[in-house]
Amino acid sequence: MPREPALEHPPGEMTRCLNCGAERGADVCESCGLNSTAAEFALRRRLLNRTAFFVLGALAFVAASNRYPPLELDGILIFIGVLFFLTLGLAILVERRALRHLEVEALKRVYYGLIPLPWLLAGLLLANGVFDREAPQIEEARVVGKFSMGGALPSRRLIVTSWREGHRVERVRVDRVNFDSFSRGDVVEVKVEGGLVGIPWVVDAFHR
Ligand SMILES: [Zn+2]
Repeated sequence: MPREPALEHPPGEMTRCLNCGAERGADVCESCGLNSTAAEFALRRRLLNRTAFFVLGALAFVAASNRYPPLELDGILIFIGVLFFLTLGLAILVERRALRHLEVEALKRVYYGLIPLPWLLAGLLLANGVFDREAPQIEEARVVGKFSMGGALPSRRLIVTSWREGHRVERVRVDRVNFDSFSRGDVVEVKVEGGLVGIPWVVDAFHR
């Protein structure tokens, strides 16, 4: 693809180096020595690397939430899902703007700031479960419904009456064996931990 030398910048066009973010007056950046094509290539490679790191973090989060499922798992998963698509959308936007030689510095910083979030949340959930040294509570509840969803990340929930004030029901994550063995109306004993950082999580569910 032929490319004109970006020696002059009409209003609204990029005036910063895509690689290092320095103000740029000529095609070759004075700060890092890359020309605009090389800088664009460097930016795309960095976007790709960070996006891969972000996706791995989201997977780590799902793994942590499977190991130490919080009671509020569904709300947390929705939050992570929104964060996931927002971040990927931002990466696409940064790349598109870079291709059109528009300013990307501010968006890039927001994007870079979002990258470690799933890792931090995964670490938080792990710490919440691993370092939880208090004795678990056994809560008795009644199954009022069941919900299961297949796909790449299968989820099975028992909808049970809540033992917490201000909550009507709880959605307890269970494995397939437990899911199949419970029916509506059954009494279930839910083993719950308070969590190191105060995020209650479900250890297991049993028949009484
Ligand atoms: Zn530069």
